[in-house]
Amino acid sequence: MGQFPADRFDGGSGNDGNPIVAQLGGLVLARIVVVSNRVNVPNKDSARAGGLAVVLRSFLKRNHGVWFGWSGRVATRGEEAVRTLDHGGVTYITTDLARADYQEYYNGFANRMLWPILHYRLDLAEFSSRDLSGYLRVNDLFAEHLSKFLKPDDVIWVHDYHLMPLAKALRDRGHKNKIGFYLHIPFPPPELLTALPKHERIILSLCHYDLVGFQTETDSENFARYLTNECRMPSIDSRTFIAGERTMRIGEFPVGVETAEFERLARRTVRLSFVREVVTSLADRTMIIGVDRLDYSKGIGLRVKAFERFLADYPRWRGAVTYLQITPRSRSEIREYADMERRISENVGHVNGRYGEASWTPIRYVNRPYSRSALAGLYRSSRAALVTPLRDGMNLVAKEYVAAQDADDPGVLILSRFAGAALECRSAILVNPYDEEAVAAAIDKALSMPLEERRARHRDILDVLSENDIKFWGSRFIEALTNPPGDSRWPR
Ligand code: ADP
Repeated sequence: MGQFPADRFDGGSGNDGNPIVAQLGGLVLARIVVVSNRVNVPNKDSARAGGLAVVLRSFLKRNHGVWFGWSGRVATRGEEAVRTLDHGGVTYITTDLARADYQEYYNGFANRMLWPILHYRLDLAEFSSRDLSGYLRVNDLFAEHLSKFLKPDDVIWVHDYHLMPLAKALRDRGHKNKIGFYLHIPFPPPELLTALPKHERIILSLCHYDLVGFQTETDSENFARYLTNECRMPSIDSRTFIAGERTMRIGEFPVGVETAEFERLARRTVRLSFVREVVTSLADRTMIIGVDRLDYSKGIGLRVKAFERFLADYPRWRGAVTYLQITPRSRSEIREYADMERRISENVGHVNGRYGEASWTPIRYVNRPYSRSALAGLYRSSRAALVTPLRDGMNLVAKEYVAAQDADDPGVLILSRFAGAALECRSAILVNPYDEEAVAAAIDKALSMPLEERRARHRDILDVLSENDIKFWGSRFIEALTNPPGDSRWPR
């Protein structure tokens, strides 16, 4: 695992390499119940589902699991429907949310308070007691629904910041199941986290889980420091805490991508007519790509400025490079997102106006989603990727870009040091996204890099990504959750 100590993981062998799981025929015998805010119910849009959704679904299929969460629909209070669908060996159970629940739990506390704070953005956090009540109420509602179908030996795996208090709500209803929690986004240092009003109410409720998983060691350590220094929680060791009658463990399980599959997909899709059209339209110019949801954590505004600086400082590239930024809108109902959308469009217009010519547009800025296939082909057709989040739990685009490259003639990843992925992608050009001049220099370096160096850097990162293929992520987490404390195979 590159920079990670080898004993943090089971060596990337997944179920096959674990003697106990192998004895069980490669399956965890208990039923797995995954709970997340949204559920990727198979439908006509499934082809667009992100890598993680696809992987969770295939993990649940192997284990005949259940996936529970919000349907994505908002209904009149009292008319929220609960629907069950059995498909491909997985049971999907979804509930609608009432409008007030959606506003206070999802738009409010989760996305206006927790998202910014957990991404280190105290300046954008907006606290409201009403949103906090809505957040706790929806977690209670989820627990109430889950209670109706949980069996005593179900293993429950809860995902992400929307559902931190869910284990407590389930324990309050008497459930003694193994319950694990995985945080997909960063966990900030306690010095920042304690700016969250009533933080104990939310963060300490994580101690009702048996296992709390994070993307990186930094996140785990921040949580451990919060528990030790802020809450004076007794501990057995640096990763095992005593919470009343139970122990709660902390571990790192960095999310990966389907490395080999993504390379195969990119090899195929580079020939798609859509991708060929884009490449032809470049008229032999080099392409740089950026792919991000429109979110302030992604640093798109500063990236556009850095690209402008690049055109100013390295004039030989003017007219020779096209930067394609693909940015589907997200959370447009929240004011900061709408403001940011306007600002970025203006900045892009400014750069294009200043440096563009009738025959050349420096930045192509597109606000729509594309299929995984199209993205894979575009990644492979780009000489460099600009992935410069100001803070990111992992960043899968960075990993997908590397996986998609042609090993004989690979592109170069320019990656923010503040993305979780930077720990595994040490051979990328790592940058500080706040330093325009350094990002501009990194773009020049990427575009000028000799083939041998590009190949060596690509090989280094690919080795790490192949070892940490997402296929093994689910089984690693569930093994850690179901193994008794003190088991030597537990990741540390
Ligand atoms: P986040 O989860 O914060 O949005 P990640 O980089 O970790 O960021 O994951 C984003 C996922 O969404 C990736 O799998 C990526 O391929 C996908 N994605 C990003 N932008 C688009 C887009 N324009 N169209 C389709 N999928 C996208």
